[in-house]
Amino acid sequence: MPLRELRPNLWLTEITLAEFDVRGAVIIGEERVLVWDTLSHPRDMQGIAELAGDKPIYVVYSHADWDHCWGTAGLNSSVIIAHGVCGKRFKTGEVAQDLAAKQSAEPGLWDAVQLIPPNRVFSFMITVDLGGVMVELHPLAGHTDDCLVAFIPQWGVLLAGDTVETPLPYLHESSIPLLPQWLGKLDEWRRTERVRTVVPSHGEIGDRSLITQNVHYLRDLRDRKPPTVPAEMTAFYTETNANNMKLAGF
Ligand SMILES: [Zn+2]
Repeated sequence: MPLRELRPNLWLTEITLAEFDVRGAVIIGEERVLVWDTLSHPRDMQGIAELAGDKPIYVVYSHADWDHCWGTAGLNSSVIIAHGVCGKRFKTGEVAQDLAAKQSAEPGLWDAVQLIPPNRVFSFMITVDLGGVMVELHPLAGHTDDCLVAFIPQWGVLLAGDTVETPLPYLHESSIPLLPQWLGKLDEWRRTERVRTVVPSHGEIGDRSLITQNVHYLRDLRDRKPPTVPAEMTAFYTETNANNMKLAGF
């Protein structure tokens, strides 16, 4: 798995899945290392132990969807941080059901996955001190109700998880009642001048204009206006857009 250095002490984990790409991050502090999402499989975490050296690894799940939290067994980590609702999604068996479905659809491919639930959960913003680097974790419900973003103020970097996506965000049925809240939070972030780099889990990396693009899309859905989308999109995003519009009542 290629690890790419975005800036000193910030590495990206980027993998290609059947239908889309997914990205996580590794933040290296003086005392601790934070892994933002463990992606879809333990092998997706290759190379991180070497980067971390003898520093303890903290894992943060941006949310409990399968492409973000299935690779944890590939790390040696005893601290797994997530939103309380993420913990519930593990407890209720939702995450296990997703794994069972994948295992029966693609026998043999997912056998190494071990589901490791979070053991430190929270519902309001928390700050994680890595030694010389502070990481703020902010809940931002919308794509799912357990979604987080991670902000590193001293670098101006916002790890947006699935709250911002290019070319367009992915909605679940549960996203519809959360639209006003999702829009409100994104609107705050896009006005936050300290944010200089936005790193979504899916799609290109950019500046705050990525957030604005998602705000416009979600606003259109809320107002029942057909959203503006790029002329050329992959089959996955063409289908996602159609599904989003259906969920929004078009
Ligand atoms: Zn995702």
